Amino acid sequence: MNLENELEKAFGFGEFKTGQKEIISALMNGHSAFAIFPTGAGKSLCYQLPAILLPNLTLVVSPLLSLMKDQVDFLKSQNIAAERLDSSLERDEYSAIIDRAKRGEIKILMVSVERFRNERFRNQLKQMRLSMLVVDEAHCISEWGHNFRPDYLKLPAYRIEYQFPQVLLLTATAKEDVIFDTCEKFDIDPDNVLVTGFYRENLKLHASAISASEKRRYLLEKLDPEQSTIIYVTQQQTAAELAVFLTNKNHPALAYHAGLKTEDREDIQNRFMSGEENCIVATIAFGMGIDKSDIRQIFHYDMPKSLENYSQEIGRAGRDGKDSYCEVLCSRDNLNLLKNFVYGDTAEYDAIYKLLQQIKDFPETNWPVKILSLSNELNLRMLPLKTLLVYLEMARVIKTLYAYYEDYSFTYNLDAEQIVKNFDGERATFIQTIFDQSEHKRKWVKVDVEGIAQNYNCDRARIITALEYIDEKGWINLEAKQTVDMYEITNRQFDLVDYAQRIYDKFQEIEESEISRIDNMLDFFENSDCLSFDLARYFGEETFNQNCGHCSACLTGPIEIKAGELVPISAAEINESLTEFKANFPKEFLSEASAARFLCGINCPAFTKHKIKKLNSFAVYETYPYKEIIRQIDL
Ligand code: ADP
Ligand code: MG
Repeated sequence: MNLENELEKAFGFGEFKTGQKEIISALMNGHSAFAIFPTGAGKSLCYQLPAILLPNLTLVVSPLLSLMKDQVDFLKSQNIAAERLDSSLERDEYSAIIDRAKRGEIKILMVSVERFRNERFRNQLKQMRLSMLVVDEAHCISEWGHNFRPDYLKLPAYRIEYQFPQVLLLTATAKEDVIFDTCEKFDIDPDNVLVTGFYRENLKLHASAISASEKRRYLLEKLDPEQSTIIYVTQQQTAAELAVFLTNKNHPALAYHAGLKTEDREDIQNRFMSGEENCIVATIAFGMGIDKSDIRQIFHYDMPKSLENYSQEIGRAGRDGKDSYCEVLCSRDNLNLLKNFVYGDTAEYDAIYKLLQQIKDFPETNWPVKILSLSNELNLRMLPLKTLLVYLEMARVIKTLYAYYEDYSFTYNLDAEQIVKNFDGERATFIQTIFDQSEHKRKWVKVDVEGIAQNYNCDRARIITALEYIDEKGWINLEAKQTVDMYEITNRQFDLVDYAQRIYDKFQEIEESEISRIDNMLDFFENSDCLSFDLARYFGEETFNQNCGHCSACLTGPIEIKAGELVPISAAEINESLTEFKANFPKEFLSEASAARFLCGINCPAFTKHKIKKLNSFAVYETYPYKEIIRQIDL
């Protein structure tokens, strides 16, 4: 098979980009593969072309709705049978896609990893003929990495369970140890791993040591307002303030961060993409999936979160191949802030213990979890909680069964009486019963699914099917809320203390590794002989092996990043700042860790619930090292 011809035929592209052909050949020869190319290098094509050529369905797992949408739109524009399953689909649209997939009429199906939680989908997947599993943004698999998504840990097991003959992993950022670890999990031969393209000659990488108080002035001096620019900052507040500052200084800039409304974010992004706005001051919320070719400047006003983030973020510059300028304003001042994010995502021993105890003592085999309530109950943030549940699942303590909605409500579009008239005999009685036994509020009608199921002696499923049917007819507007994930408890024979400790140790190990990644990053900016070379080597690229000659390290040598400007604080001051906190925070969650989190501004569910963030001392020491603070706390 001549792959160039196939490429031309399917996509109209004249040649492969670097690395694409190697990966595609490996796949066409029946192997699994792992492509680590930087952003914009054309990773999607590595699955798109084989997917057309392979006989059956390629399932693509993607972490972001907008990425799925872009890729499916592109594929459809090329007349390729591609679809995506996401929550925006109407029921009949969903069914139509599944039916076509079962009939083999779809080549590429894109889903989020959470889709696998859905029992119906898992059953449907078993009825499809599958050629390949693709994991886009595969670094989400690694709990050692940034952007970790706990459910990704289950993908190797899904690969086996659904018998995908081949896998393809795609990412822009994976360190060598992560690559190795992931290959093992997916049984990928290291010969079919390809790292390429990290060195981009047109990116001029600069690092300069600038103290916190000098940053604004320095940025103003460096910034060319005529050029398309992204300025990355750590905190939402900095984004907002810096955008105002720049605008007042005649450098119009817009802030972009996760605290803005979705429509505002979309609007800002569109204006930037169209060139109407030149300068965005953004947190890391900005950028995934941004494909603008002429971004000329990327400034890191604060240090990036890691070298992986750095690489992704500068990767957005100069896609058109023209020279582009990337500068990091290095200072130690926001390092503690970055580290505090890491401490925020660990699970405390108490929370792990409580969860395990709950599992051990739960009187039934099926264990329903409402993730939000559980997060509050344990005072454990969503990410570590989800991670913990996945760990337990992988250790076969629990097993995902299915998810369902607990609360169903609706509004009438048609009178109840008229709706019932559409049914005969027992079905009419059944529908009438649902209406009669539901609680009618002013506008909404709340369905007591459990109660009806008991009184009428039927399954929950029958009630829900009926409601969905009536909704589909347009006679009511049905709303489902409050997801419950049903797990089966498969093993309670663990030693509580011992097992809790082991899981806790694992979280600690990850925490330490994340913290050292931040230190390594600082070391990179401070001590590199060549930023371009060291960065490429960090990701395992071997083809580029000389100094670039145009980064700041090559041009002016290494920099020295001075110690931060922190005012020393005493243990007495620290404990003094806790008075109000101790008076307001529930005793059951009070610990040195929660007190230190309070002072360092690291959020947890109980802070939100008890309005702790409103207290004066919240986050007073957010720029101080968490470990220093916790060490001095005496409750
Ligand atoms: P990545 O996922 O690596 O960030 P994408 O897959 O989104 O990159 O591809 C970036 C762009 O490159 C897309 O617009 C894609 O259509 C284009 N592209 C990919 N392969 C080729 C090729 N062989 N020739 C020309 N353009 C390509
Ligand atoms: Mg991509």
